Amino acid sequence: MIDLVIVGGGAAGFFAANEVLRIKPNASVVILEKTGKVLAKVKISGGGRCNVTHNLLDFNELLKNYPRGELWLSEVFKKFSVKDTLNWFENKGVKIKAEPDGRMFPESNDSQTIIDALQKKVVGNQFELRTHSTVKNIIPQKGKFEVLLSENEKIVAKNVLISSGGSPTGNGLAYINSMQFEIVPPAPSLFTFNVKNHNWVDLMGLSVTKAKVRLIGTDLEFSGPVLITHWGFSGPAILKLSSFAARILQEKEYKFNFSIDWIPDSSIEEVQNKMINFQKEYPKKKPDQSPIFSIPKRLWERICKESGLSGYFNWAEAGNKKIQLASQLLKGTVFKAEGKTTYKEEFVTAGGISLKEINAETCEAKRYSGLFFAGEVMDVDGVTGGFNFQAAWSTGFVAATAISKRI
Ligand SMILES: Cc1cc2nc3c(=O)[nH]c(=O)nc-3n(C[C@H](O)[C@H](O)[C@H](O)COP(=O)(O)OP(=O)(O)OC[C@H]3O[C@@H](n4cnc5c(N)ncnc54)[C@H](O)[C@@H]3O)c2cc1C
Repeated sequence: MIDLVIVGGGAAGFFAANEVLRIKPNASVVILEKTGKVLAKVKISGGGRCNVTHNLLDFNELLKNYPRGELWLSEVFKKFSVKDTLNWFENKGVKIKAEPDGRMFPESNDSQTIIDALQKKVVGNQFELRTHSTVKNIIPQKGKFEVLLSENEKIVAKNVLISSGGSPTGNGLAYINSMQFEIVPPAPSLFTFNVKNHNWVDLMGLSVTKAKVRLIGTDLEFSGPVLITHWGFSGPAILKLSSFAARILQEKEYKFNFSIDWIPDSSIEEVQNKMINFQKEYPKKKPDQSPIFSIPKRLWERICKESGLSGYFNWAEAGNKKIQLASQLLKGTVFKAEGKTTYKEEFVTAGGISLKEINAETCEAKRYSGLFFAGEVMDVDGVTGGFNFQAAWSTGFVAATAISKRI
């Protein structure tokens, strides 16, 4: 009987294999990977640079980046958090650097460095990696599990780690149907917003360093950079909203209204007063040629155009109504989203195995002793910026520690 079968040769599965074999070098461990390539997502992650984790050593701040699993992960991160990730990779000879926005990458700026570290260190006497091996079923028996690859092939294992990743349709979890786990329905997360008849398209490529995006009809709002694209809006603030509102937006079939506050640090009264004061001081200037706020010039021109402040007017002629309208637009231009676009750098699936089924101390199934979970297969996901890999490393570590005790 094999000590451990790992279903899925991704980030969480490989991390766990490393840890089990570090603690128990003589353990028999098999990774079963359905495709021909392991660690495929690590390879393409972070635009090929692999955003390994996020420079957030404060435990509570870290947790705020997980729309699903925040409370549950607090137990997991107690055992393995960002600092541990950095030490872990450093011990494998991989130096990690932080970028000003907090994202952390290997110094090489090449995801292959992370793949090499995860792969070459999996050295056990009895370690086996099998690609093109799809697990079709897992049958729990007394003190062991039968892992079925096909009708004729099965592996009997004392422990099984399910690390088969997110399943966008839910079909990817059919192989564990017989155990009747509660499964939270999938929903895509981390996407950009499409705007139909996008009449701000001429501003494509324009980015605002600090804006606040609100989902109208909810109290969800996030600050950060916003980018105008040829299909709509992107940037960290949009992605964060897509993540926290993943389920609401799915229910709305991606048809929703959102607003962008271009000057989040000032109130609407302050914005309006600033314009009125400017008007008094420079009555002869043309509004669209006299940017008042620290927003890109093209954006200011656009706001002027939308509020009727452009053209032949000078400030003296601009009436209160137009100033009021410009203030409203600056503090919340409303857009109508119709559809979403996958953000190429990182996307994940919300939903998966319900956390009610899993013990956060060990990542073991509450109803099946010897069966463990790690990574995105669970109903855990984070915003963009390295948080999803951090969850994969941490849950892989916790599961591996508990598995090792059983070997
Ligand atoms: C384009 C892109 C870029 C990303 N960039 C980042 C980033 O920079 N930073 C970050 O934190 N996160 C990033 N993510 C998210 C991150 O990649 C995932 O959250 C992470 O890979 C999850 O790890 P995992 O091991 O749980 O699953 P995966 O890495 O998806 O691995 C699961 C593996 O299981 C295999 N498998 C599935 N079913 C079976 C089966 N029945 N039998 C055998 N094998 C099976 C799959 O083929 C796969 O290889 C990115 C995601 C994408 C799509």
